[in-house]
Amino acid sequence: MALIVQKYGGSSVADAEKIKNVAQRIAQAKDKGDQVVVVVSAMGDTTDELIKLAYQVSKQPDNRELDVLLSTGEIVSSTLLTMALEAMGYEAISLSGAQAGIRTDAVYSQARIVEVDPERIIRELDKGNIVIVAGFQGVTEEMNITTLGRGGSDTTAVALAASLGAEICQIYTDVEGVYTADPRLVPEAQRLSEIGYEEMMELASYGARVMHPRAVELGELFNIPILVASSFTQSSGTLIYGGASMEVRNKVRGIAHDLNVAKIAVVGVPDRPGIAAAIFESLAKAGISVDTIVQNAGLGKITDLTFTVARSQLSKAIRLVRPIAESMGAKKCVSDSKLGTVSLIGPGMQNTPGYAARMFRVLSEKDINIQLITTSEIRITCIISGDRVKDAVRALHQAFELERGE
Ligand code: ADP
Ligand code: ASP
Ligand code: MG
Repeated sequence: MALIVQKYGGSSVADAEKIKNVAQRIAQAKDKGDQVVVVVSAMGDTTDELIKLAYQVSKQPDNRELDVLLSTGEIVSSTLLTMALEAMGYEAISLSGAQAGIRTDAVYSQARIVEVDPERIIRELDKGNIVIVAGFQGVTEEMNITTLGRGGSDTTAVALAASLGAEICQIYTDVEGVYTADPRLVPEAQRLSEIGYEEMMELASYGARVMHPRAVELGELFNIPILVASSFTQSSGTLIYGGASMEVRNKVRGIAHDLNVAKIAVVGVPDRPGIAAAIFESLAKAGISVDTIVQNAGLGKITDLTFTVARSQLSKAIRLVRPIAESMGAKKCVSDSKLGTVSLIGPGMQNTPGYAARMFRVLSEKDINIQLITTSEIRITCIISGDRVKDAVRALHQAFELERGE
């Protein structure tokens, strides 16, 4: 008898019929004799709607209250799914994140799991229950409810799989696995049958929202195989795991894109130690994460400092950075909120010359201007105008022949 963790995303439980469909799938797993723990997201667009509501009653909703509000979305779906299973004659119980032992730090809306105490889940499994856990949430030491960041139910699932020693974590969603690019943007995108943690991590971190990056990170850390597959079909999905064959490792594996990108440039700053530290310390303290950072080599003791943040955090970041920039004698502080990134991801790229040049050539042939470039060992990212991202992804997908599959 194996223990498996399954996770069903928002569109998979968007209405009563879909919840019943998910209940059938869970029942099949249980009928095989496995112990089943299920993590569920909020129904459809519930989380977005709750956020909208909060902003209708307050310009700046309190962080603590907002997290309690958002956590209710997953409570609704977990209870309905449990009722659907019970109606089919199965024994099931729903647990909130707190009841499931998910303990987090106190960073509201972006909390990190510090510990999982799986004792209650184990007790319920031992009684023969299917355990349905509300995803995306946890509780602090002071018993305050937190949420794990958008898309965080994936992370709940992998964290539970790790703490329970599950055989596999199955992430069921509205596409049939991980594709060479977002299949909604590139109809020719191909499903990958398998992918390594590292490549998946880069894809997820640079916009392929099919997996929450922190879920992949946990998967790698605890060596949990993760299967991404459809909630609606029987397709075999994509296995994310530690090994990947040598042949596959040398190719471009996928293209990620992200439209939630904004740029801040602090122009004409005196080039002396301490400026970057002051700016980035203040952003870090406010919980704003910075991605790309570029500082020009100072000419005549004056330099420019450019960096990107999530579009949703731009106005908060500007409010913090502008006074610091002014106090340091910068000429101006400018921003652009309509940017996007396109990233080419594939292990082996670093040791094979020519990928970056080819990427830049493809973009230039489409008359797409590159504003900033960043790389890792297995990724090249170009920051471009948001309205050209779609064209860029399609052109790169074609140029690197990703439609040909593995
Ligand atoms: P869920 O609600 O199940 O968590 P998400 O909306 O978070 O689902 O993630 C699934 C979506 O991720 C897909 O509908 C797809 O549009 C998008 N996506 C982006 N990049 C990729 C990719 N490389 N492969 C598969 N899906 C992707
Ligand atoms: N419901 C949350 C969100 O929409 C968490 C999740 O779906 O994973 O971001
Ligand atoms: Mg998701």
